[in-house]
Amino acid sequence: MLVVMKAQATPEEIKAVCEHIEGLGYRAHPLPGAQRTAIGITGNQGEVDRGNIEELAGVAEVIRVSKPYKLVSRDVKDEDTVIRFAGTDATIGGAKLAMIAGPCSIESREQAFTIAEQVAAAGAQFFRGGAYKPRTSPYAFQGLGEEALKIMAEVRERFGLRIVTEAIDHEALELVAEYADVIQIGARNMQNFSLLKAAGRKRKPVLLKRGLAATLEEFLMAAEYIMSEGNYEVILCERGVRTFADHTRNTLDLSIVPAVQRESHLPILVDPSHGTGKRNKVLPLARAAVAVGADGLIVEVHHQPDKALSDGMQSIVPEQFVQLMDECSQIATVLHRSVPRGIHVSESAAAVSAR
Ligand code: PEP
Ligand code: MN
Repeated sequence: MLVVMKAQATPEEIKAVCEHIEGLGYRAHPLPGAQRTAIGITGNQGEVDRGNIEELAGVAEVIRVSKPYKLVSRDVKDEDTVIRFAGTDATIGGAKLAMIAGPCSIESREQAFTIAEQVAAAGAQFFRGGAYKPRTSPYAFQGLGEEALKIMAEVRERFGLRIVTEAIDHEALELVAEYADVIQIGARNMQNFSLLKAAGRKRKPVLLKRGLAATLEEFLMAAEYIMSEGNYEVILCERGVRTFADHTRNTLDLSIVPAVQRESHLPILVDPSHGTGKRNKVLPLARAAVAVGADGLIVEVHHQPDKALSDGMQSIVPEQFVQLMDECSQIATVLHRSVPRGIHVSESAAAVSAR
């Protein structure tokens, strides 16, 4: 159920409607839009009695949402969600593309700083790097854990880049939420519902990767889990799915980008690194992702990919990332979009993060 408020509804009226809904034992999710606020209702088993709600001050109408996903849906919020990062000009969603780049894993302070310096110089606003790695083999490098998070916090201080890193379980989530700007939930955890709910209780944006064999509906329902807990800053990410094809690691399903955009107001990024698994295919698929309308990219970059402790095969070198930024920004202009070059951090925000 969805309560659409009148354009001129006051904050007090919106608050009163939310309190009324909570008083009925449901959960109210106010989602402000450009024209008006809509309030999603969740937690109801059956039909909510719309009678009383329709009579409350400021209410325009009460609508039944028939889709299984509600808060994720454009029915609830028509405008694209734009996620902002306090004290900076960085955004995810909207006309400006978000470019996230960095190594698969943080391996050392020196490695992270070398790569961060180059991706920042190329214009990326976000730095990625795994601290906790979901590896197929228990004997493979598992990540440096909190030490890596500390290194990434230093990277943010030094270069201004906002930090994206994965939480593989509840324990990691607590630390990732403390250090990072964006909490990544990986493909293998897309249907780890308890982890999704816990991420939904954090107040940091969540980058949710599509599961290895997830349908569009399953993907959107996973985002719904996060939003249902009150965290409305969810970023979707296509990273390839399993198919019979063996010329790539995964099959990058670019058609999901317009499919998501039709159904949902949430931003959707593309990961051409895990999506192909091959360095020589990252740039062509990055170009295609921008052309198809993705809201940004997450790309693995390593200065010495042959020595990388994970995913060296699919990591591009910094010079290739420069080319990627250049070509993607030219493609973006055709779509009346742009690739921002570099992040601007306000002095007061820089002072806070340096403390
Ligand atoms: C990653 O981004 O390093 C990663 C492990 O991605 P995915 O969950 O898509 O495999
Ligand atoms: Mn990786």
